[in-house]
Amino acid sequence: MNERLQQKILSNIVKDENSECWIWKGQVSNSGYGKIKIKDEVYGTKTEGAQEVSYMAFIEPITQGAIIRQNCNNRLCVNPEHLIAHKA
Ligand SMILES: [Zn+2]
Repeated sequence: MNERLQQKILSNIVKDENSECWIWKGQVSNSGYGKIKIKDEVYGTKTEGAQEVSYMAFIEPITQGAIIRQNCNNRLCVNPEHLIAHKA
């Protein structure tokens, strides 16, 4: 759990009342996923998938090599309840 990152996620979304999706309103990658710049203690500033940062901020650290996808099939959704880690 990371409150600072949680706030950053929450300030970049609009909640869809029907689907309960958290629709990302920040930058979007060429592949259609949200993206966000974060500060990393080791690597400095880097760009991550918004769904990955949401997963890290609200659920748990991401196992190396795992990818985060939405079970609601909305690539812009970052609701932690809709995110699933596909373990490597
Ligand atoms: Zn969703």
